Amino acid sequence: MKQAMVLGAGGFIGSHLVERLKKEGYWVRGVDLKHPDFIQTAADDFVVADLRDQTTLTNVFDRPFDEIYQLAADMGGAGYIFTGESDAEIMYNSAMINLNSLEAARKCGAKGLLFTSSACVYPQENQLDPDNPICTEDSAYPADPDSDYGWEKLFGERMYQAYQRNHNMNTKLGRLHGVFGWKGTWEGGREKAPAAICRKVAEAENGSSIEIWGDGLQTRSFLFVDEGVEALFRLMQSDYHDPVNVGSEEMISINDFARMVIEISGKELSINNIPGPLGVRGRNSDNTLINEVLGWKPSRPLREGVEKTYNWVLEQVEAKQTSSAA
Ligand code: NAD
Repeated sequence: MKQAMVLGAGGFIGSHLVERLKKEGYWVRGVDLKHPDFIQTAADDFVVADLRDQTTLTNVFDRPFDEIYQLAADMGGAGYIFTGESDAEIMYNSAMINLNSLEAARKCGAKGLLFTSSACVYPQENQLDPDNPICTEDSAYPADPDSDYGWEKLFGERMYQAYQRNHNMNTKLGRLHGVFGWKGTWEGGREKAPAAICRKVAEAENGSSIEIWGDGLQTRSFLFVDEGVEALFRLMQSDYHDPVNVGSEEMISINDFARMVIEISGKELSINNIPGPLGVRGRNSDNTLINEVLGWKPSRPLREGVEKTYNWVLEQVEAKQTSSAA
């Protein structure tokens, strides 16, 4: 039986990835500061540990795992990573996690190691035109990410590449673009745009309006979590070591995304565009490379994942309203 470890297994993508690995028949250890918020972990063994603390890692990296997926990071949506208020924390926490995990993975003799980087590594000047953002893998340099979160991811990628070159480690680098879906953070300030918009629509009274940050003409692409997990799993099985985009090419403006959610809800709602933290003007995954090296592309249209996500967020909102009314 293959043995895998998922760092960040209490988080959104990590908790789904553990489920996927279990379906593949792996023995799985999950590691995180906390258990998943919305599902019972499927991991065979779940260790609550702080990956910033080197002294706790010997017990966690205690065998030559076949596959280690490094998803743990200090992260959130635009309201967390683009305000600039948490930059020092984000950089310190995630860099410590990456430094410790990579060295511990080397020492335990991990056979495969995957790092989840981000589309936030791409230079801001290539993403000024909302209709034609450039996000090919080789456009990351000369580097100029628009957030310190993006700079830290670039540092992470480079460390993984250095360990691959100097220590002959079998590393994989996925640059994730806007992964969304059910059973993920939907409130509290760290939620990302798709979940936040689903929540706003679910909470809105018929005939009212929802607030959208910016003019809403900024574009993004969003990848449903099951698709992202499939791509990460395939990337780990591949022999491709350079960074590769993992995203959707179905680019949409934020206002159009909000209109899609409103239509799914069946409500009559208007959009009120207000100032807010934004990130780049346009972003879309370029899937040429991943298609070439993995033969992968998203299998379902965006709307299908949005329907699932909206219905799940609606359940959460209704459950919360019921419990606060009781
Ligand atoms: P998440 O915040 O839900 O998961 C990250 C997990 O890391 C959390 O459960 C958190 O508790 C854990 N963690 C943080 N600090 C830790 C520490 N010191 N020790 C142990 N665990 C710690 O985020 P996610 O959306 O599941 O993202 C997973 C990975 O993918 C992250 O590395 C993120 O940067 C990357 N990524 C995600 C997206 C996206 O759209 N969701 C896009 C690009 C990149």
